[in-house]
Amino acid sequence: MILKKLLLILACLSAMGVAMAQEPDDEFVADEQDEEGIGPDEQQIPNFLPEAIDTVDTDDKFVKIVLYNNKTWDYVDMGRPVIDDTDMDTLFWNNNIHSYKEVSLSDLPDEIDLMLVDSTHAFCAPVTGRITSKYSFRKGRNHNGTDIKLEVGDPVRAAFDGKVRVSEYTKRTGGYGNLIVLRHANGLETYYAHLSARNVQVGELVKAGEIIGKGGNTGRSTGSHLHFEVRYHGQSFDPERLVDFQTGALRDTLYTIKKHYFSIYSHYGLTDEQSLAESQHKTYKIKSGDTLSGIAHKNGTTVSILCKLNGIKPTTVLRVGRTIFVR
Ligand SMILES: [Zn+2]
Repeated sequence: MILKKLLLILACLSAMGVAMAQEPDDEFVADEQDEEGIGPDEQQIPNFLPEAIDTVDTDDKFVKIVLYNNKTWDYVDMGRPVIDDTDMDTLFWNNNIHSYKEVSLSDLPDEIDLMLVDSTHAFCAPVTGRITSKYSFRKGRNHNGTDIKLEVGDPVRAAFDGKVRVSEYTKRTGGYGNLIVLRHANGLETYYAHLSARNVQVGELVKAGEIIGKGGNTGRSTGSHLHFEVRYHGQSFDPERLVDFQTGALRDTLYTIKKHYFSIYSHYGLTDEQSLAESQHKTYKIKSGDTLSGIAHKNGTTVSILCKLNGIKPTTVLRVGRTIFVR
């Protein structure tokens, strides 16, 4: 590789040398014009600079192999994006629990390349341990995060560098209980819920690995654990796509989010094909006066299919406000 670069430099230098040596005086200029524009440069310098004829992808999205017409090849760095902090706290920065209320799923592109770490932005698992509940649709509602077992008082760390957008324990944090939300420069937000203590205030900058609070059992929680969410522009996806909570490792430095990953039915471990199929599930929110046969009729399905989809019996009492699958 080095040898080839050297040859390229030599080739450039020699090309310049020839051009300089043939800096024409007035007589030569006249001669050139007589030869209908074919100058001595073009006649004498062989074109031995290789020409790129094709590129091949590598495991690294930002490195390609370039093939040349002289049967050589080279790795080419396509330019790695870096995390830019400048707009971190300008877009949709407010003190709502969820700040991106005006952004809907349809506003987002089909694929988002998410730079998670770079040379100046690190990662640290918020906690490591056993997962007690996954990102899923459970008991008639969305479980938008991953639950990781911990003991009350265990340190909870910032996953990425960021800025504290929410740090409170009020009525409006609801089931989250004692909650911290961090904004990150790449458009991600991370949520740390059910805490027993908070160490950071709104507006504070934190570094990955910094202890931001202590684990607890506040809010809608049975047994101490961390409820950890990741959201991109407000849309949640399975945190296990990014983090191996057993080992505390980040799975990728760059992660490409597909739009269907934002479905509550799409989770880590599925192929993209399976995820897409799962994301097509349709749900129905039960209203007062609804019956299973009525819901089946409205959605062009049958009671037995509804029972199978939701793991219920025709006699199961429907609870208003709960959501069931209809497809
Ligand atoms: Zn949870």
